[in-house]
Amino acid sequence: MKFEHVLVVGAGQMGGGIAQVVAASGRRVSLHDPYPGAVERGVEAMRKSLTKLGADVEETLGRIEPVEDLAAADLLIEAITEDAQAKEKLFRRADEVLPATAILASNTSSIPITSLAAVTQRPEQVIGMHFFNPVPVLRLVEVIRAVQTSDETAAAIVELARDLGKEPAEARDFPGFVSNRILMPFINEAAYALMEGVAEPEAIDTIAKLGFAHPMGPLALADLIGLDTCVAIMEVLQCGLGNPKYAPCPLLRQYVQAGRLGRKSGRGFYSYG
Ligand code: NAD
Repeated sequence: MKFEHVLVVGAGQMGGGIAQVVAASGRRVSLHDPYPGAVERGVEAMRKSLTKLGADVEETLGRIEPVEDLAAADLLIEAITEDAQAKEKLFRRADEVLPATAILASNTSSIPITSLAAVTQRPEQVIGMHFFNPVPVLRLVEVIRAVQTSDETAAAIVELARDLGKEPAEARDFPGFVSNRILMPFINEAAYALMEGVAEPEAIDTIAKLGFAHPMGPLALADLIGLDTCVAIMEVLQCGLGNPKYAPCPLLRQYVQAGRLGRKSGRGFYSYG
């Protein structure tokens, strides 16, 4: 089995989901998150998800070891907050700690993989491995090649995605890649429609669900993704593509300022009990 030991960094909604699917494939996982209680919350979320999926909870969780520092694994999958400086710092550190043969992957939604690769001594072994939320349910993995990524690295990650039961789709390293270049302006426009009083949130989401056959509307999806993450991605699109049409909707910014981050904080466009 390739990548027998995987280090997942960040135990939030994405990191927890990634750790879960990697462990469910029979691999050993080290899970690192320095924030107090983050790993415990991540493990609790995995327990719930595995129970819901009817999986062997204890066997899968038994393969996940919480670690207090970065561990020397065959593969890093980074899923920390969407902040370029924090990710670059982590990639520099991982480059020192992980063996020279290891691949360093990021689950970033929008930060250039090319710039993460550039801070390491192994740029050809750096790649984007972009999972979708909720990770145990959604099958897509967007595989993003940095300018420096080698064919061998891309092939190994495509093969791993398939082995995790996912469907890989390859994209080049342009702002927002493919998925968020399309999705985020859609969400942003829905926030504008709400801000300008065109319709209530329920009506906006109903139109997308019934009219476009989307499983959930853009505002409910923004709440699931996290409004802070949505703002961060729009800023990357705006800055990276140099076009003001990508500026984050002021209402999104205002909700983030108010701590209304979506499901993870209990309130966003909707309230969660
Ligand atoms: P989250 O806020 O749920 O979790 C982030 C976790 O990272 C937190 O537990 C935090 O404690 C931890 N963290 C922060 N700084 C860290 C550091 N320096 N070292 C280790 N851990 C650190 O966020 P999330 O939604 O899981 O997003 C994580 C990444 O995945 C982001 O890059 C985001 O853009 C990307 N992503 C998110 C979604 C989504 O739908 N939310 C989908 C695809 C990709």
